[in-house]
Amino acid sequence: MKKTIAVIKGDGIGPEIVTEAMKVLDKIGERYGHEFEFKEVLAGGCAIDATGEPLPQNTIDICKASDSVLLGAVGGPKWDTLEGSVRPERALLGIRGALELFANIRPSKLNPALADACPLKPEIVGDGIDLVVVRELIGGAYFGKREIIEVNGEKAAYDTTQYSVSEVERVTRVAFEMAKKRRKKVTSVDKANVLESSRLWREVVERVAKEYPEIEFNPSQFDVIVTENLFGDILTDEASMITGSIGMIPSASLGKSSLGMYEPIHGSAPDIAGQDKANPIATILSAAMMLKYSFDMDKESEAIESAVQKVLDKGYRTGDIISEGCTLVGCKEMGDLVSENI
Ligand code: NAD
Repeated sequence: MKKTIAVIKGDGIGPEIVTEAMKVLDKIGERYGHEFEFKEVLAGGCAIDATGEPLPQNTIDICKASDSVLLGAVGGPKWDTLEGSVRPERALLGIRGALELFANIRPSKLNPALADACPLKPEIVGDGIDLVVVRELIGGAYFGKREIIEVNGEKAAYDTTQYSVSEVERVTRVAFEMAKKRRKKVTSVDKANVLESSRLWREVVERVAKEYPEIEFNPSQFDVIVTENLFGDILTDEASMITGSIGMIPSASLGKSSLGMYEPIHGSAPDIAGQDKANPIATILSAAMMLKYSFDMDKESEAIESAVQKVLDKGYRTGDIISEGCTLVGCKEMGDLVSENI
C-alpha cells in the first residue's frame, strides 16, 4: 500500500525525534511491503524564520492533500516574545482547525518496564495504569472569541468557551466507539455545577450515552475519559506524569475522514535540543497510532509497539527514563534499536 505522509519536524528536538520515527516507518514499509512517501513542510518557529508566518498556506495545502500528518514539536525561547497571533503555537491551533481535527486521543499507559518512574504508590498502581483521554480539540476557550479590553480604567482580557450540540456529539461518539474496543467504560469530565457550556456538554453526553447501553457511563474506575478542550489539555498533561516520562506518550488528532495528525504530547525541549538526548519513543508510538487509526494497519502498528517493548525490556533507556542497571542511549541509537527490533 502507498501512503503519503506530510512531515512537520518543527523546532528544538522536533527534527531529531521525527527522523527516528521516519526511520521506523521505513522499516515497517520494507517488512510489510508498504511505501511511505514523506513530504516535509514547515510550521512553527522555523516557518516564522523562513516565511514570516507560523503556518504557511503551502503547509496546510500539503497536509490536506496527504493521507496523514506526522508532527514533532514547535516553539522555543527564540520566538517567546512574539505577539500571540504570530507565535509558533498558533501553527498547532491553525492546523487542527484547518484539518478539522476535533478529537485528540491521548493514551496514558504505564509501561511495566518503567514502573519505578511512576510517582504513585505501588498499591494505587496495582496491576498497572492504562487509560485514554479523548479531548475535544477545535472548540472551547482555545477557539472562542477573545479580547484584551479595558475595564474600569485597567487592562482586562477574556476568552469565551462555547460549544454547540453537534460539536459535543461528535467527540462523544469517538469516545464511546473507542470504549467499545476497550474496557467498555466512559467518564465525562465537566464543570456543570458552574459553567453553562458544561451543562450543555453534560446534557449531550448523557443523551449519547443512552445509545450505548453496553458501555458503563461514569464508572468508578477510569478507562476512556471524554472532556472539552481546556480541561483535556490540563488532564492529559497530568495523566502523562503517571507514566513516568512525557517522552513516552503519543497522541492522535482525528476528524471526519481518515486523515489524522500524530504527534508526541511533549514540547520542543529546547534545553536538550541538538544534543542527541531526546527520547524518540513518544513520536515513534505516534507513528504506530497513525498506522492503526489512519491506515488500518493494525499488525504493523502492533509491530512497532512490541519493538519498543523489546528495547525497553532489554534495558535500553534515554536520559529521561534512565534507572540503575540500564544502558543509556541517545535519540538516534534508540531509533536504531526500535527499528532493528521490527
Ligand atoms: P517540553 O515538553 O518541551 O519540556 C519539558 C521537559 O521535558 C524538559 O525538561 C524537556 O527536556 C523534557 N522533555 C520533553 N520531551 C522530551 C523527550 N522527548 N525526551 C527527553 N526529555 C524530554 O515543555 P516546555 O519546556 O514547557 O516547552 C518548550 C517549548 O515547547 C515551548 O516553546 C512550548 O511552547 C513548546 N511546546 C510545544 C508543544 C507542541 O509542539 N505540541 C507542546 C508543548 C510545548
